[in-house]
Amino acid sequence: MLYRLRDAGYDAHLVGGGVRDLLLGLEPKDFDVATDAHPEEVKAVFRNCRLIGRRFRLAHVHFGCEIIKVATYRGVRDDSDDADGDQDHQSESGMLLRDNVYGTLEEDALRRDFTVNALYYNIADFSVIDYADGVDDLKAGVLRLLGDPETRLREDPVRMLRAARFAAKLGFRVHDDLAQVMPGLAHLLNDVPPARLFEEMLKLFLSGIAVSSFEHMRHYGLFGELFPDTEECLSHQEHDFPLTLVLKGLENTDRRVAEDLPVTPAFLFAVLLWEPVRRIAEALVGQGVEPGPALQQAAGQVLSSQSQRIAIPKRFSIPMREIWALQSRFLFTRGKRPRRLMAHPRFRAAYDFLLLRAAAGEADPAMADWWTEAQKHYRPEPGDAESETLAELGIDQPPPRRRRRRRKPRQDDQGGA
Ligand code: ATP
Ligand code: MG
Repeated sequence: MLYRLRDAGYDAHLVGGGVRDLLLGLEPKDFDVATDAHPEEVKAVFRNCRLIGRRFRLAHVHFGCEIIKVATYRGVRDDSDDADGDQDHQSESGMLLRDNVYGTLEEDALRRDFTVNALYYNIADFSVIDYADGVDDLKAGVLRLLGDPETRLREDPVRMLRAARFAAKLGFRVHDDLAQVMPGLAHLLNDVPPARLFEEMLKLFLSGIAVSSFEHMRHYGLFGELFPDTEECLSHQEHDFPLTLVLKGLENTDRRVAEDLPVTPAFLFAVLLWEPVRRIAEALVGQGVEPGPALQQAAGQVLSSQSQRIAIPKRFSIPMREIWALQSRFLFTRGKRPRRLMAHPRFRAAYDFLLLRAAAGEADPAMADWWTEAQKHYRPEPGDAESETLAELGIDQPPPRRRRRRRKPRQDDQGGA
C-alpha cells in the first residue's frame, strides 16, 4: 500500500493510532496513511478507492474487507486567505468547518490532535518521525494536545471526546493544561453535528472501554452536555439505582465486547436514557395514566429532547423504544400474556434490560426471577405470534407478516382470562 504510492512518485507514511498502538505493543485497530498525493491522485493509483468527507476530505482504499484511510498532508491555513472572501472555513466559535488546505509533512503533524497521534512511520528507513515530542509523551503516558489547548478545542470540540476516549483506552493521563480547559469548553459540543456525535458515542461506548469512557466524560463535564436529561437525574439522584444501572449496563457491554459477543447501540442508548424515561413515566402514572402509554409518552419526550444533541438513527431508536415499552408488560404474569411476550422478537433484549434494572435495585428481583423461570418452561408455538404489539407500542412501522396465525387451543396453554 505505502509502496504503491511510493512507486507512483509520492511520499507516504503510516500515521496516527496505528503507529501509536504498535509502539505501545497494542494491536492497531486500523491504519491511517498520510501522503503528499492529493485525493484525486490517490484515486488514480488505487482501483478500489473512494473519496469521502467534506470538512475533511479523505481517500478510502479498500483491501478486501479492510479500509485504509489515506489523507493528504494538511497545511496550516494562512488567515490572509480570508481576504478573498473564503470565510466559511471557520464558525464564530472558532470551529473549523473545512480543513482541506494541503501542506508539508511537518505542517500535517502540527494539525493533528495529540502528540502521541502525530507520529509517522517512515517505510524508507523504518524510522519514526516525531515533530512534537510524541515519543516522550507516549513513554510518559500523557495525552497532550498540539498547540494551545483552547484554540485546538475551539477548532474541533470533538477533540474533548477523543481525549476521554484515549485516556480510557490507553490508560493515559490527560495533561494538566488540557484537563484545566475542558470543563469550561464542554458546552462547545453543542455546535457539533448530532450525526458526528453519534459516531463518537459508538467509539466511546461500544469498543470495550465504556465504563472508563463514561467516568472520564463525567469528570470533564462532557457527559452532561451530551446527555443533559440523564445527567440531571444522576446529579440529583435520590436512590443509587440510576448510576448503578448505567454502570452495570456499561460493564455488561464491556464484558460482551471482550467476549466477542454482539453489542447494539439500541441497548446502549436504552441504558443511558432509561432514568429520565422512567421518571417521566412514573410522574404520568401518578397522574392516572396507564403504565404502557405512560412509558410510550415518556420515551417520545426523552427521545425528542435527546435528538437535539445526538442523532440516533431510526434503526436503533425503534428497537430501543421497544425495549423500554416491553418493561411495562413484565408486570403481567397471568393468562396468555407471558407467552405472547416471550414470543416477541425484542423479548430477549427487554429481559436482559429487566435483569439490569433488578440488579440495580430499581425493579423487583422476584419479578425478574419469575421471568427467568418462565422461560425454562416456554416452548414457542405459532399461536404465540404477536399481532397487536407494534400497534400497542404506538410504533407505526409494522414489519411484513408472512405467517398465518393459527388459533388452536393447546393443552399447555395456561387457559387465558
Ligand atoms: P483509533 O485507535 O480509534 O483508530 P486514531 O488515533 O487512529 O485512533 P482516528 O480517528 O482513526 O484515530 O484518526 C487518525 C488520526 O487522524 C489521529 O491519530 C490523528 O492524528 C488524526 N485526527 C483524527 N481526528 C482528529 C481531529 N479531530 N483533530 C485532529 N487530528 C485528528
Ligand atoms: Mg485510526
